[in-house]
Amino acid sequence: MAEFNWTCPFCHTRQTVSESKAHYSVHDINVGETSYAGGIAGAILAIGCSNSECKKVELSFSIGSIRSKNSYGQVAAINEIIRSKIAPESSAKPQPEYIPENITQDYYESARILELSPKASATLARRCIQGMIRDFCGISKPTLNQEINELKKQFDSGNAPRGVSEESFEAIEAIRKIGNIGAHMEKDINVIVDVEPDEAELLLSLVENLFDDWYIARQKRQERLARVTACVEQKDAIRKTHSER
Ligand SMILES: [Zn+2]
Repeated sequence: MAEFNWTCPFCHTRQTVSESKAHYSVHDINVGETSYAGGIAGAILAIGCSNSECKKVELSFSIGSIRSKNSYGQVAAINEIIRSKIAPESSAKPQPEYIPENITQDYYESARILELSPKASATLARRCIQGMIRDFCGISKPTLNQEINELKKQFDSGNAPRGVSEESFEAIEAIRKIGNIGAHMEKDINVIVDVEPDEAELLLSLVENLFDDWYIARQKRQERLARVTACVEQKDAIRKTHSER
């Protein structure tokens, strides 16, 4: 396998994958006569992350009809029919522990079922957004739409929590304009509404944006502040010991 570029789905580090970090193998599957002309075979594709702090392995398995065999009569290539991701199970990005667990659990589950059921995924993503508006912004109303309107009101009058930016609203508004999702924010949070797969994907990316803009940015600000405070205190202590002499 020639070298190729790849982004690790676990740590999101971009890297060039060398031959030694990639594995592809095809295996005969012998189950007698099947509906696939020429028989079926399975293939394993694995890529190991080179980031020394991650070293995780992306793994997928596929089943396909036999395309070609080598000179020993073994399967060499397949025409893929089904591919299943084994690890990671979904495209969800790992989220830090300081985000409330009920919110991240809904996010992970939403990502996991995205392909299987976009409408169930969108329902969970919508619950995530509501969970964040309730937890991070402290706003609780009967519908998500009313909560977004209240947040917008607070933002316009300069009373929204720090971190809630113009960009947060632009993203929320852009998604609210998509037909089904917009209508769907008016309804009870647990009502399942039909959505297109790409709409569910958009909702999930909005959830990720809000994680970054709200929780992660706040944590970084707090850590920076703590570092500055510690530094000032340390200098203060040094000054005091000097002046006491
Ligand atoms: Zn990695």
